Formats: sequence, structure tokens, C-alpha cells
Amino acid sequence: MHYISTRGHPERKAFCEILLEGLAPDGGLYVPEAYPQVDGIMLSRWSGLSYPDLAFEILSLYVDDIPPVDLKTICEKTYTAQIFGSREIAPVRPLETGVYVLELSNGPTLAFKDMAMQLLGNLLEYELAHRGEELNILGATSGDTGSAAAYAMRGKNGVRVFMMSPHGRMSAFQQAQMFSLQDDNIHNLAIEGVFDDCQDIVKAVSGDADFKRRHRIGAVNSINWARLMAQVVYYFHCYFQVARNGGTRVAFTVPSGNFGNVCAGHVARMMGLPISSLVVATNENDVLDEFFRTGVYRVRGRADTFETSSPSMDISKASNLERFVFDLIGRDARRTKSLFGDQLRQCGSFDLSGDPAFSQGADRFGFCSGRSIHADRLATIRDTWERSGTLIDPHTADGLKVAREHADSQTPMIVLETALPVKFAETIREALGREPNRPRRFNGLEDLPKRFKVLPVDAQAVKSYISETLQGAG
Ligand SMILES: *Cc1c(COP(=O)(O)O)cnc(C)c1O
Repeated sequence: MHYISTRGHPERKAFCEILLEGLAPDGGLYVPEAYPQVDGIMLSRWSGLSYPDLAFEILSLYVDDIPPVDLKTICEKTYTAQIFGSREIAPVRPLETGVYVLELSNGPTLAFKDMAMQLLGNLLEYELAHRGEELNILGATSGDTGSAAAYAMRGKNGVRVFMMSPHGRMSAFQQAQMFSLQDDNIHNLAIEGVFDDCQDIVKAVSGDADFKRRHRIGAVNSINWARLMAQVVYYFHCYFQVARNGGTRVAFTVPSGNFGNVCAGHVARMMGLPISSLVVATNENDVLDEFFRTGVYRVRGRADTFETSSPSMDISKASNLERFVFDLIGRDARRTKSLFGDQLRQCGSFDLSGDPAFSQGADRFGFCSGRSIHADRLATIRDTWERSGTLIDPHTADGLKVAREHADSQTPMIVLETALPVKFAETIREALGREPNRPRRFNGLEDLPKRFKVLPVDAQAVKSYISETLQGAG
């Protein structure tokens, strides 16, 4: 298996070569040269596998430069009942007629990002040891990504994490989750600014090629192929649980931001998993809904990016969309480069509405979309609670609201649960006037001692902090 850039760079790379990398050298995203195909025989052979065994089978199709015994060990070490709360790892539960919820939020940080990040942590540790290298991950977060990364990398050899977050702007629960980690290799930097300031600092530091190389700075952002690949597994696993008798097609609705989660569904479908449709659900930040409805992809500015009650979907652009558009336009790399390179840079948008690839695309690729707003989230949380006694978080509520609009009586509709309600207590109180349940292991979380360093909005201050920390570590 080789990986190529969506923008046509001639290099073909092996999995371990792209594992630690972000963008391809030409600014494109890495994709497999071809999607491995699964047939009915493979599907029936896989249908009874445990989550780690299934992960191993699927990963083996994408990773041919890690010896199978090692890859198997990594899968077994990652997907355990101890880390994900049950042997099923990602259980499916029926919610209402024809609608199911795929539970992806039972990992250490109670959001679906753990599903991929935990695997990435183990892959990174393995590959760094193999190369005799170290890596310092620099990131910015307003919540889920940062804590999932920190919990995946804690205590890992060869990896340090420097995670910036906007000082005093995360929910008390999210802040406590990140700042209570006492591991020496995790460094929380509370920046006296907003999330965008944190992101600007990441850009400034990564833009200093010399600093980046000397300090071995890397990232684990949502365009990382290994994260996407790890997410493909649960689409298969869920399919086997819902379509027990085979032959059935299923639909998924995915609360979306950077298009990583639903892009993994696209990959699963391209591999041959019988998915009838992939429904993209957005909140008020509806870049993706607009694209799938109209063919116009229009990146938002800061002023048009809203802070909502499903904050992990508050994005101004959808970083993984390029992977899908590449497939949509027949893997035309030159055109992908012109759309995502030149046109987005010059106009901030592109328009595929007149292109047959777009008008036929919905059918060929099964995509459709919808959006919801704060009032919809509250109504959906309330209504689901009253109807079925199930408490859902605001992101999953965005998904469920849109899923109900697209469900048909023939096809099981699966909504991906992306976080647990306890992370977003304020919105739950607003919807229901009660506190969300808290898994027992999180009792007293906010009272634990916190470890963090407050720094100004200043890339130089962050660089100095990193240099001093690395010197201290010898
Ligand atoms: C990251 C996140 C999303 C969005 O996922 P993408 O892969 O960026 O589309 C949705 N919900 C929650 C809770 C998240 O943490």
C-alpha cells in the first residue's frame, strides 16, 4: 500500500513515512493510492470478530510496513475493556424505531476522538522507538482534541505534548480533564487569549523551520491519515452489529466539523461496506451543509464563525473535505490543487454546482446533509430524554435532529455519538433543568490538583518555554 498526495506530488509513501507527517510537501492530504476492496466473503468472515481483531484485519490492508505480529499487539493493547469501558469497545444501542446510536464516547476523555487517538499514541511510540527518535507534539485545543491527545500520549516513551488552550475558556470539566494529568511528558499551556490565538501560535512556531527541526516539533491534527484509518474500523464493527443477517444496507448520520469522522465513513463505503447514505450534520457553522446542498464550498472568516453549544463542531473550514472532493472529481489531482490551493487562497471559495461530478455525486457517494441550531439541540435533548429516557450530548443531538429528517423505514439509521453529556453540563441544564450523570470514575475531577503554565499570546514565549523544557529534560 502506498500513499499519494491529493495534489499530485509524485512521491509515493509507505504508511510509517506518513504516520508522523501532516500535509504532503505540496500542501495536499495523503490518501491511499487505491481503496482496498472487501467482498461478501470477507464481510462474513469479519462479522464475528472482536473489535481489536477487526481493527487488525482492516489496518493490515493499509499498513504493510509494520510486522503483523506487532500490529496485532498494538491493536490488542489499544482496544481494551479497561480503556473503553466494555469489551464491545463501541456498543450500538437502539434508540427509537429504525434509529440506533453508536457509542463512541466511552474512552478516557468521553469523546469519540479517543477511538483514533489511543491507537495513534501506540503507533507513534512504536515507530519512534524503532527509529530511535523523539517527537514533541505542539497543538491547540478548545476541548476534545487536546485532551484526547494528552490522554493518548501520557507516559509514552519518546513523545512529549505541549498543548495550548485559551486560558479560562474551556468548560470546568474539560479543563480539569486536561490539567489534572500529572505525567511529566504532558505540558498544558494556558494562553491568555482565544482559541484562534492558540492556533496562530501553532502556525507561527511550525512556520519557523529551523526551530521545528531542532526541537522535533510535530502535530497530531485531524488530517492525520492514521486517525482517519482508525475511525474506519467502527463503521464496519457497527454494521456487523446492526445488520446481523447480512444483506442489509445501513445509513449513518455524523455530527461533523473537520469532516474527519464522516470521511472515515466514506472510506468504509469505498471499500465496499454496504452503506446507503452518509448524512453530514452540522451546527450553525454550516460550511459542510452548504457544500453538500449547493456545491459551493465557502470558507468562513473569524467573524462568521460562531461559538455554539456544540463547540467541537465550530469550524471555519473543514480540513478533511479535500480527501472527499479528490474522489468526487475522479481523483483529478491537478484540479484538486487548483480548487484547494489557488481558488481557496484567492477567493476563499469554489463552486462545483455546475459540475456533473457534483450533481451525480450525491447518488454515487451517498452523501447528504442537514444543520441544526441551538434551539434544535435543546428540543432534541429534551425530546429524546422524555421519549426514551436517554440523555444525549449537544453534538449527538445535532446528529439525531438531522438523522430524523433523513431516516426512511427501510434502512437502519445509525447516529454516531461523539461525546457524553457530562462534558457539556451547562447545555444539559438548560435543556432539562438537571445535571447530567457522571461516570463514577470522574467524581471529584474538578478538585484534583492542576498542572499548567499561563503564557501570553506570544509565539516567542511558547518557543522559549519549549526550549527550556527540553533542555531541562536533557
Ligand atoms: C471533533 C468532534 C466532532 C467533529 O468531528 P470531525 O471529525 O471534525 O468532523 C464532533 N463532535 C465532537 C464531540 C467532537 O469532539
